[in-house]
Amino acid sequence: MSEPTKIFLNESEIPRQWYNIAADMPHAMKPPLHPGTQQPVGPDDLSAIFPMNLVEQEVCTDRWVDIPEPVLEKLLLWRPSPLYRAKNLEKALGTPAKIYYNNEGVSPAGSHKPNTAVPQAYYNKIFGTKRLATETGAGQWGSALSFACQLFGLELKVYMVRISFDQKPFRKMMMQTWGADCVASPSLETAAGRAILAEHPDTPGSLGIAISEAIEDAVTTPNTKYALGSVLNHVMLHQTIIGLEAQKQMAMVNDYPDVVIGCAGGGSNFAGLSFPFICDKIHGKNVHVIAAEPAACPTLTRAPFLYDFGDTAKMTPLLPMHSLGHDFVPPPLHAGGLRYHGMSPLVSQLVVDGLIEPRSYHQLNCYENALLWARTEGFIPAPETSHAIAAAVEEAKRAKEEGKEKTILLNWSGHGLMDLKGYAAYLAGELSDYEYPQEDIDRALAALAQYPKP
Ligand SMILES: *Cc1c(COP(=O)(O)O)cnc(C)c1O
Repeated sequence: MSEPTKIFLNESEIPRQWYNIAADMPHAMKPPLHPGTQQPVGPDDLSAIFPMNLVEQEVCTDRWVDIPEPVLEKLLLWRPSPLYRAKNLEKALGTPAKIYYNNEGVSPAGSHKPNTAVPQAYYNKIFGTKRLATETGAGQWGSALSFACQLFGLELKVYMVRISFDQKPFRKMMMQTWGADCVASPSLETAAGRAILAEHPDTPGSLGIAISEAIEDAVTTPNTKYALGSVLNHVMLHQTIIGLEAQKQMAMVNDYPDVVIGCAGGGSNFAGLSFPFICDKIHGKNVHVIAAEPAACPTLTRAPFLYDFGDTAKMTPLLPMHSLGHDFVPPPLHAGGLRYHGMSPLVSQLVVDGLIEPRSYHQLNCYENALLWARTEGFIPAPETSHAIAAAVEEAKRAKEEGKEKTILLNWSGHGLMDLKGYAAYLAGELSDYEYPQEDIDRALAALAQYPKP
């Protein structure tokens, strides 16, 4: 019989613990610093905006963390997610490489983000939180958390970056369908939003601004906490269910990847797939790990590793990460979920330690590969996902040139059915590439010189 196209785990085989890479890193992540004192932040500082059970996860160094039963029960709505072999793409490329991908587009919100939205809503619920505030860029996180809050009976307010609010009305409608309240950011509802609107009434907004608004909402509204869909350690932890499933699925077909690839915005889907494999790598396995990002927002490939704020209004702790600067204004780019100035400190540290190779890809190359994918594998990828596809195709073509068999595994982080305007613009020849200017990186670096170095 021919090799399977889809590899399924039974529901009973769903991983029951998350993997915490903090237990295995050769160099521990540097501590986040308090923005005022510049001393390491303690759990009490974080508990102003997060429930204590998630703060404990944020600083946890245990290798394995049990997934609570009520969380597993909800994850089973779509997990274990299928692992696919991209046979049609392999054939179209004429490559000797085998290309596998885990399909995170099967979740209710259409991406990997519900993997952390569900546990975050659960931990808030049992802590006693009544309402959450969050930000969303392209709308993927806002819709995932809307779905999760509905499951656990929490209210949700979403600050959605203005340009996406206008360009992606369907994401907003999804949030409303799941019962959340979604407003354009900057809004008139927060002091941070009003200050920015007073200075720049026509601003398209940014994730950094929307985070400032959501945090302000959380600290000024009773029974309200803040939730973040990427970057933080507990988010990376929740996403490792992806890689743990993929490891079991690869074993079912007696295979193991030579190359593991994910696209990186804040780092969560990339970490989710790759961290269990990086654990193997730390313990001697030969596996190459690639983080694919946009050339227009080159956080890992060109931005320095330093202490920076997670938001524009400098309300978050200083995080040790690769950063383009907290006042970063996103360039025109359709992969909205990859337009963040910072990066997960865990992913950043592993890049510094040489365990991850970052690569950047231009938008037109990504769309070309997304189209090739849609026309061979059928599923239309999110523009973010197309960066991982570009890297996988590059690796598959290299395998062909070298005449080498190679096993490639990529994280298919989400579908692009809410992002068809980007495809339309590409097909109409309206998109162009954008190289992030070095002077903008230099300016951000200079502005951060006053803060400690990690
Ligand atoms: C949000 C998103 C990303 C980028 O976020 P990460 O935290 O880097 O994973 C990538 N792909 C899709 C489909 C997304 O929704």
